Amino acid sequence: MTMYKAPLDDQRFALFDVLGAETELTRLVGGTEHTRDLLEAVLEEAGKLAEQVLAPTNGPGDEEGCHYDKATRTVTTPKSFKDAFKQFADGGWTSLTNPEIYGGQALPAVLGAATTEIFQSGNLAWSLYPLLSEGACHAMEMHGEEWQRQNYMKPIIEGRWTGTMCLTEPQAGSDLGLLKTRAEPGEQDANGNTRYKITGTKIFISAGEHDLTENIVHLVLARLPDAPEGSRGISLFIVPKVKVNTDGSLGERNAVSAGAIEHKMGIHACSTCVMNFDGAEGYLIGKPHKGLMAMFTMMNAARLSVGVQGLALAERALQNSLNYARERLQSRALSGPAFPDKPADNLLVQPDVRRMLLTQRAFVEGSRALVLYTALQTDVEARAADEAARKRAGELVAFLIPIAKGVVTELAQESTKEALQIYGGHGYIAENGMEQFVRDARIITLYEGTTGIQAADLLGRKILQLQGAGFKHFLGEISAFCQQHSADAALRTLVGPLAVAAKQWGDLTLQLAQRVQANPEELGAAATDYLYYSGYVTLAYLWARSVAAAEAGTRSAAFKQAKRDTASFYFARILPRTLTHKAAIEAGVDTLPSID
Ligand SMILES: Cc1cc2nc3c(=O)[nH]c(=O)nc-3n(C[C@H](O)[C@H](O)[C@H](O)COP(=O)(O)OP(=O)(O)OC[C@H]3O[C@@H](n4cnc5c(N)ncnc54)[C@H](O)[C@@H]3O)c2cc1C
Repeated sequence: MTMYKAPLDDQRFALFDVLGAETELTRLVGGTEHTRDLLEAVLEEAGKLAEQVLAPTNGPGDEEGCHYDKATRTVTTPKSFKDAFKQFADGGWTSLTNPEIYGGQALPAVLGAATTEIFQSGNLAWSLYPLLSEGACHAMEMHGEEWQRQNYMKPIIEGRWTGTMCLTEPQAGSDLGLLKTRAEPGEQDANGNTRYKITGTKIFISAGEHDLTENIVHLVLARLPDAPEGSRGISLFIVPKVKVNTDGSLGERNAVSAGAIEHKMGIHACSTCVMNFDGAEGYLIGKPHKGLMAMFTMMNAARLSVGVQGLALAERALQNSLNYARERLQSRALSGPAFPDKPADNLLVQPDVRRMLLTQRAFVEGSRALVLYTALQTDVEARAADEAARKRAGELVAFLIPIAKGVVTELAQESTKEALQIYGGHGYIAENGMEQFVRDARIITLYEGTTGIQAADLLGRKILQLQGAGFKHFLGEISAFCQQHSADAALRTLVGPLAVAAKQWGDLTLQLAQRVQANPEELGAAATDYLYYSGYVTLAYLWARSVAAAEAGTRSAAFKQAKRDTASFYFARILPRTLTHKAAIEAGVDTLPSID
């Protein structure tokens, strides 16, 4: 059984000291609506729910898993889940960031990201049920019609229903242009809206069927009869599990059901379903053939949330491995006994154990700064009065999403691995709970676009196709920071290497752009190393900002020292990984010969 304590102080530091969230939000929204007091109070309540209700369900939920009944095609979730979901919905957490006109609380996305971290640390598998709903609401809000929002989105915001994203098919994973599910237009309903008949099979659908709510709203990608081939011929449909009458009441059961649930490596308590659509009734969202674009608007938020999942798992794994290292007595310090009255010293005296702990801490706090920074930019993009500010923030978000998803989830693999390693053989034993973090973490580099897809998105689309607009803003920010702090004694050892790494990042990008122009294969050969390179420099910048924020604030000397120590560790032992990635990028596509 593992423990969890919401890291409220670390979150406060990242939000208010490093990112200046209160000032930024007050500037954006005006008035005194989003005060620090309010944001902190929300975080505290989220912490209580996660610590007292969700965290205790994590291990037992994993052991119990989900159960599928073939006769009724229903899924039973672990027994504690229904009550946890009710408490979550009753607490208003399903409506936190949604618009007020649909029953939401319109709180900022950056607060949503911070509370999501807490809930996901509490129980990642459980948190997927409300998480997918957020994506579905976002798509309906952006692309749906008013009656669709009233009938399908509002009940989700009220916590009465959940939502799914039905994209993947057996032959269509990363390449959604290959999908085959069909949508045939049928008769009109009483309000004159065309009903479509959806037919096909989707696989790997998270929360596709469950017993937590009375209805599930599936957002389904399918092809209309006249659809062009490939990704330009995909439309998006709302397909409810239980049909909804025109007055919003529940009607008869729709022809959509779970054909099976997947038995998988981790997140056992989340039902991952094969969904069969047998002429199920649905409604088009947005324009015909523009479904993939509609899905992509919600994918930014979903990808950021998966980055937050990496942070959440790494945080909880760190907390447990740190406690264990304090208590476990083995061996003596290399320089002689540190606790001579005890039979052995604790693990913390071993430099190698400290290496593993500091790696985790550097990744966790750096990742937190990154996901919250990105989320805050989404608030600027959505709320700033000034159009230029909105545009700049949107470009920054587009650039940072593949890094926040791709890199934070990969670093979480290393973090959870090191956390288990600190437990030695005890980490491998299920009852200690550490192996669950490793298993659960594995999915996050796969769904919502694999790491390879994030890498291709960063280099191919965000840098080369969009001419690196967000990248230029970000490099500009780093450069301004380095100039501002060049004479700052506490930051001297950080600013120099950061400026060098950022300059090299720009040079490497230019060289790559030329090589890709000559041979497009170079893009694929470099993309993942480029993603990691970008991630390590991004975290270096945010670590330097964290030290600057700590020094400027009124926190204790020990707090400031901890920030300086972790940043020094990061710059000395982690940032040099960029050199390996640079060498791999420069080695080029010739080192990846074709395989017959
Ligand atoms: C537990 C779980 C939950 C899921 N939940 C959902 C859900 O709710 N809704 C949903 O629709 N889907 C869901 N998925 C599906 C998930 O999003 C896909 O599995 C994922 O997008 C990858 O597709 P694929 O598995 O077909 O792999 P493939 O697309 O076959 O990829 C295989 C490998 O090839 C690489 N590759 C493929 N194309 C490229 C390229 N162009 N450039 C570089 N590398 C490439 C990939 O990076 C990967 O390493 C879920 C999957 C799992 C396992």
